[in-house]
Amino acid sequence: MSADEATRDGAAQDGAATAARNPPWTATVLTIFPEMFPGHLGASLAGKALERDLWALRVLDIRDFARDKHRSVDDAPFGGGAGMVMRPDVVDAALEAAKAQGSGPAIYLSPRGRLLTQALVRELAAGPGAILLCGRYEGVDERVLEAQGVAEVSLGDYVLSGGEPAALALMDAVVRLLPGVVGNEASPAEESFERGLLEYPHYTRPAAWRGRKVPQVLTSGHHEKVRRWRRGQAERITEERRPDLWAHYLRDRDEGEGREP
Ligand code: SAH
Repeated sequence: MSADEATRDGAAQDGAATAARNPPWTATVLTIFPEMFPGHLGASLAGKALERDLWALRVLDIRDFARDKHRSVDDAPFGGGAGMVMRPDVVDAALEAAKAQGSGPAIYLSPRGRLLTQALVRELAAGPGAILLCGRYEGVDERVLEAQGVAEVSLGDYVLSGGEPAALALMDAVVRLLPGVVGNEASPAEESFERGLLEYPHYTRPAAWRGRKVPQVLTSGHHEKVRRWRRGQAERITEERRPDLWAHYLRDRDEGEGREP
């Protein structure tokens, strides 16, 4: 992207929350299973946004960059052991092609990576896009990750059979933050993690259900009381369920950095 385009994009975003970016946020996915995309992102809000060019998806089949007639992308690990490893030369060629047509940081979805958090999602959503390398087998030869300056991002502390569901989850989280994708613009700012807290409980009709009533404050029509009740609930739930987040939140608040809603 040129400097001009970058400035124009920035100005467009500052100007109107719903203005689409041009070019749109673009995910460039590298995978040996291109048929897994757009997957669930072809449906619902993300799917409509994709049709409306509010974001773009390019999928490159890593096999197209193999050099032999069997189109092999993997080989046995040096040092022995179970499984196969994705070859550096093949992955390198795929990454070069992705960088030539895509934009944003190159990310390898990997259980060794930095945890995907809402803060990282926001960071990515503010950029031009991301190049997402999906591993299979035991993973990717280390040298190509070093040579191409690839960052590693993890979906969580468990092992998936491939990077594709992680790439889909990352794109899902980013896309819903892009201008114009989620109808109610105020909604993402109210959610879990946005203020370092988990979300307060939700209630809808009927007002009484199986003998359970909706908390009275929510039907009081008193906005300030509702706000305070929700904040209190969010704090209680975070303290109970996520001591790690709670400790962060308290630290930020004590340093006077806690953001007011
Ligand atoms: N041998 C590896 C696991 C390989 S799983 C290890 O022990 O760390 C195969 C592929 O699935 C990986 O290359 C990676 O792209 C993807 N993957 C597995 N778990 C993941 C996670 N928690 N987050 C993101 N990607 C993951």
